[in-house]
Amino acid sequence: MTALTLTHIHKSFGEVEVLKDINLTVEDGEFVVFVGPSGCGKSTLLRVIAGLEDATSGTVNIGGDVVNNVPPARRGIAMVFQSYALYPHLSVRGNMALGLKQEKQPKSVIDERVEKAVQMLDLSAYVDRRPSDLSGGQRQRVAIGRAIVRDPKLFLFDEPLSNLDAALRMNTRIEIAELHRTLSASMIYVTHDQTEAMTLADKIVVLRDGQVEQVGSPMELYNNPANQFVAGFLGSPS
Ligand code: ADP
Ligand code: MG
Repeated sequence: MTALTLTHIHKSFGEVEVLKDINLTVEDGEFVVFVGPSGCGKSTLLRVIAGLEDATSGTVNIGGDVVNNVPPARRGIAMVFQSYALYPHLSVRGNMALGLKQEKQPKSVIDERVEKAVQMLDLSAYVDRRPSDLSGGQRQRVAIGRAIVRDPKLFLFDEPLSNLDAALRMNTRIEIAELHRTLSASMIYVTHDQTEAMTLADKIVVLRDGQVEQVGSPMELYNNPANQFVAGFLGSPS
């Protein structure tokens, strides 16, 4: 089964074409990493997949259904942002439950899913705190928890670790890898960190100026970069 198929995706903002004919598949359970320089369109592509932006043309197919006209909340995806995007007036528990409340899930389901995510992310000591009383790493775990409780088929991570210091980045990276194994969900993960890309990815998509430059496993890209540009990101130093 295919979790996501993008076909001939174009996206323009006014005169400027930011995504230029993106074609891509993500298989069920696959961990796909997008890398590429700042401004090449990584976040825009995630937002088109999530439905936060409409593609100018092309189709977004999630789990076998074309979702171009389906609102974000009904696409079976959850997105984790670099900035956490937590609600300051809500507790950890409240932040994690909010999406499920908006879906009008029964309280029993909400409590059960939140509790499970709290355990998974080791947040039980913090459930009643506000985001302002948490460290950056804890906040990002809450943001990840808020995605987990929705039980999405596809997770989208937009540079989730780039606001964390190096030690926390490594810990959280390992946690995300564990989550991927535990949940067996498909994940798309944007980063400009070579270590994150090489260690997390089943498949790396190198983007450049709104186009796919090369797709392959970490080892394929490392050993056989298509050109200098890919080599500069991931290739062997030779
Ligand atoms: P990345 O995440 O790879 O750094 P982005 O997807 O954020 O790149 O941005 C790609 C390009 O699209 C940039 O030139 C950016 O300025 C432009 N862009 C992104 N969002 C908008 C928007 N809402 N309106 C106009 N231009 C945008
Ligand atoms: Mg971005």
